[in-house]
Amino acid sequence: MTSRFLIRHAHAVFTGLRGAQARSDATDLRIAEGLITEMGRGLHAQEGERVLDASDCVVYPGWVNTHHHLFQSLLKGVPAGIDATLSPWLQAVPFAFRRGFDEQRLRVAARIGLVELLRSGCTTVADHHYLFQPGADHDAAALLFEEAEALGMRFMLLRGGATVTRRLEDSERLHQAPETLDQMLAAVEQTAARFHQRGPGARRRVAMAPTSVHVSLPREQLKVVARAARALGLPLHSHMSESVAYIEYCREVHGCRPIEYLANNEWLGPDVWLAHLVHLSPGEMKLLGDSGTGIAHCPQSNARLADGIAPAPALERLGVPVSIGVDGAASNEAADMISELHFAWLVHRAQAGALSRPRPEGEGEAGGDAVTVEQLVHWATAGGAGVLGFEGVGTLQVGQAADLAVFDLDDPRYFGLHDPGVGPIVSGGRPRLRWLLCGGEVVAEDDGIPGLDLGRLRAQAGEEVRALMRAG
Ligand SMILES: [Zn+2]
Repeated sequence: MTSRFLIRHAHAVFTGLRGAQARSDATDLRIAEGLITEMGRGLHAQEGERVLDASDCVVYPGWVNTHHHLFQSLLKGVPAGIDATLSPWLQAVPFAFRRGFDEQRLRVAARIGLVELLRSGCTTVADHHYLFQPGADHDAAALLFEEAEALGMRFMLLRGGATVTRRLEDSERLHQAPETLDQMLAAVEQTAARFHQRGPGARRRVAMAPTSVHVSLPREQLKVVARAARALGLPLHSHMSESVAYIEYCREVHGCRPIEYLANNEWLGPDVWLAHLVHLSPGEMKLLGDSGTGIAHCPQSNARLADGIAPAPALERLGVPVSIGVDGAASNEAADMISELHFAWLVHRAQAGALSRPRPEGEGEAGGDAVTVEQLVHWATAGGAGVLGFEGVGTLQVGQAADLAVFDLDDPRYFGLHDPGVGPIVSGGRPRLRWLLCGGEVVAEDDGIPGLDLGRLRAQAGEEVRALMRAG
């Protein structure tokens, strides 16, 4: 039996849509059969409905996180990587610790990451998991879907991996055995057959996602992998152009820039989205826009690793679908969606201002509208659902899935706001999650998650971190 709700008296409702439709006039939303069935003002409760009083609260669509590495939730703030750029950080943190992730440790890490996201109002998570080796003693895909389902969240497995050993991991200490191409393709096909859902209401999806496609596959396999994914109806995902090292490598080995390499190997298109895309030439930006290739924009991780700032607003103007990812918690020690959006709101303005020049040689003060709250909400909701392919999710409209967060701005951080609707993004912090609904069911209430013992999770995290430190 599904639940029926009437949310009433919301102070502000953001829809996830663009422009004049970004905010709804509605204060009330009726929910039944997992969907939003009515939006308006002064709606009356019907028999059998539970009324959720959202007075002084603001309502957003549930966030959609399009790039994560949940296993890294037990690798935050590792001293050996805290002041490192991407390549030495990869060696010092994820590569150094990944062989220690058995079933129990992966489960604890996934739970921490999912709970952290859920408590920031996130209802859909795409996890780029790349710890797949021949002969593993546990079923990581099943485990990750299981953990998300237990929390009532939608989940997409971005099935990572590699068929070659990259330079950075070519040592006894850091090596992870690659799969053969046949093993990788067979595993993705099996995973899709077990979990991948299509159409409105899907809760589980799968993508073909070699970890960093310019180094994870030899050149002759790129088209094979892309065609295999398309034959299965699966989208494609990978890390790309995160730091200048990507450009150096592609120039040296492939004789072109990274996005040109992808274009030459059938790895661009509306069924592809790429994490990071920080370092791009004007020509590469045009290739991305013309092909409709999307971005998982991960500004906090990019800042933390000194990668730079992805030109997300400019990419959007060129036709690139923009979404938001928190990336793994080993390179973003605040891997929740509110802090990611708060940072994004600030960093694009900082960048625009840093590039401004005084008149008459420049245009004077500029950049105050580099990104708007409405634009960010769109990226983090409808934009994310679009690139992941979850239909009927990501906007608050009649007929859409009832995935939504009701935030209560009852902390002094939010007192004094002239427009409380923008509070979670412009003030940041962690607003109290009054209710979080996914598919029309309550998955969090008053910051609590039914059935979850946070104290126990904290203790498990401590035990696992101590064990990792002893092994390291
Ligand atoms: Zn990543």
